[in-house]
Amino acid sequence: MGKTLDLFRECGALLEGHFQLSSGLHSPSYLQCARVLMYPWHAESLCRELVAQWKGPAPDLVIGPALGGVTVAYELARAFRVPGFFAERVDGEFHLRRGFAIEPGQKVIVAEDVVTTGGSAEEVIKLVTKVGAKVVGVLSLIRRAEKNPFSVPYLALESVMPPVYRPEDCPLCRSGSPAVKPGSRPKATPQ
Ligand code: ZN
Repeated sequence: MGKTLDLFRECGALLEGHFQLSSGLHSPSYLQCARVLMYPWHAESLCRELVAQWKGPAPDLVIGPALGGVTVAYELARAFRVPGFFAERVDGEFHLRRGFAIEPGQKVIVAEDVVTTGGSAEEVIKLVTKVGAKVVGVLSLIRRAEKNPFSVPYLALESVMPPVYRPEDCPLCRSGSPAVKPGSRPKATPQ
């Protein structure tokens, strides 16, 4: 199981240090799944492993919320040998576009890269349920939620629950190290 996290570290998808997250909270660890999913062979083998561990019913299709769930849905769909869809937000709500259609009675797996609160996946579950299809489970590479936030079975390859601190309570700040904003770029010089 630890080999998934080793791969994340190797690819720079799991950074250790002192980070300011997009929420404003500080953490000694930062996760960026795109850094591992950018290698199609890693995406393929991680998703194949996830499907091998899945004990639930085989789906008729896989769907993930854009953007985080797109690659994982695609690779899970490859491993299950079924179509892979994604749902995208239009005016704040997830919709099926591009001719993707889910039929009543179909068995569906919802895919995510990381589940923290499970908010996006939950919205996709509602979308699938509304058309009369059945979500048989949620699959993600990484789980950051302590409890399964869904009312359906949930499987992840690995759990990662790093501590987060408010800046004023952050022991890393107290030890004098500066917090880094991952992925941020220096401001471009105006032309
Ligand atoms: Zn800090």
